[in-house]
Amino acid sequence: MASASSQPSLAVGFSSFDPGAPSCTASSASGILSPTASEVPYASGMPIKKIGHRSVDSSGGTTSSALKGAIQLGITHTVGSLSTKPERDVLMQDFHMVESIFFPSEGSNLTPAHHYNAFRFKTYAPVAFRYFWELFGIRPDDYLYSLCSEPLIELCSSGASGSLFYVSSDDEFIVKTVRHKEAEFLQKLLPGYYINLNQNPRTLLPKFYGLYCVQTGGKNIRIVVMNNLLPISVKMHIKYDLKGSTYKRRASQKEREKPLPTFKDLDFLQDIPDGLFLDADTYNALCKTLQRDCLVLQSFKIMDYSLLMSIHNIDHAQREPLSSETQYSVDTRRPAPQKALYSTAMESIQGEARRGGTMETDDHMGGIPARNSKGERLLLYIGIIDILQSYRFVKKLEHSWKAVVHDGDAVSVHRPGFYAERFQRFMCNTVFKKIPLKPSPSKKLRSGSSFSRRAGSSGNSLSLIHISEPT
Ligand code: ATP
Repeated sequence: MASASSQPSLAVGFSSFDPGAPSCTASSASGILSPTASEVPYASGMPIKKIGHRSVDSSGGTTSSALKGAIQLGITHTVGSLSTKPERDVLMQDFHMVESIFFPSEGSNLTPAHHYNAFRFKTYAPVAFRYFWELFGIRPDDYLYSLCSEPLIELCSSGASGSLFYVSSDDEFIVKTVRHKEAEFLQKLLPGYYINLNQNPRTLLPKFYGLYCVQTGGKNIRIVVMNNLLPISVKMHIKYDLKGSTYKRRASQKEREKPLPTFKDLDFLQDIPDGLFLDADTYNALCKTLQRDCLVLQSFKIMDYSLLMSIHNIDHAQREPLSSETQYSVDTRRPAPQKALYSTAMESIQGEARRGGTMETDDHMGGIPARNSKGERLLLYIGIIDILQSYRFVKKLEHSWKAVVHDGDAVSVHRPGFYAERFQRFMCNTVFKKIPLKPSPSKKLRSGSSFSRRAGSSGNSLSLIHISEPT
């Protein structure tokens, strides 16, 4: 494994922050920009932002741009210092290690001067995470380059928890602010979780590449670095967060007004009642992966996770005029860093990693090819998200009786086995379907009448039967 330069440029990415740049971008939503929901007017005319779940003001707090700068300075330092540590097997104590470095504004002999308030940067389990990078073919200098050579792009797609999301400019990593309890849970989960990933890199489970904390103005902002499921270079037409539950599983009016809303289970059932059709091999690989992933989550007693699914409609995209934020555009001025292995949706279910491959050379841009009932060609970008929120379970129990009254079988929080079972069933029976095989001519002759009766009972499956080859 290549190691990061021992003398990293500590100002990487930091000086290139553009204060005039728009505050956030809607993930893959044709580049439409809008302010984050968490941005509120301030008396002086300057906006104040809530950093994730924390109210942050100008008096000793931090702004999103300062947070981005601090993250890049911190990661640059931590990757540099990691290169001085000898490579060795991961030991149990590595999971409990925390490294801490203070960044005064005026700089120190270890840290550069910067324009933000002084902050402390903590890195959790650096040696253990180095091993995970290796597992997924990420060299430390590529990790550094992806996250720190250009400003992080803020996404408007924060969820109900109010987390902030940033994406690295090369689309590879997502940086998410998490609650204290979530960070604590991840720390506990790490050893066991990665035993599973080690055995089976073919997974749709989130891949965590780093856990950090920025301490400033008496506040702790914890962040995780994960694989990015939704490339911003691909225009997404619709996005769903699916759990297999129907209780309160419709996107709110506020959500629907966003450039790329995250719709939920009931919306899916209404929009795509026939489901999405995959060729048999892809369907089998996907369902097998979901089954294994659910078993892992169940073994950790994790529930309430979702399948994030974003859909690119190839046929619609071909009819749309190219926007200024050209889809599929790749910045050819920048040398492409090594992509993480098993990182695209397709690789996650097939387990075939593209060593040295890049998104541009992949016909399907990493998406899983599928069709809707109209026969339109789709690319699906999927992954399991929100696995760190099990601690909310106790709280949610207080509310679950309401759900029981509503629909005894449709409560969003159940014991892990039930949750996993229902999740899989919904995904593999309702959301994803196998493209029906074209009957051979001899079979057609034998069962001609019953075939046409079956096809006639559903116009949609009839149109699918006539699709010759999936993309
Ligand atoms: P909630 O409390 O509603 O569950 P949250 O703050 O925990 O929300 P998530 O549900 O994890 O946030 O994600 C919110 C949105 O962020 C998703 O709908 C998706 O658009 C985006 N997102 C989350 N994780 C990823 C990821 N790994 N890659 C790309 N986008 C992501």
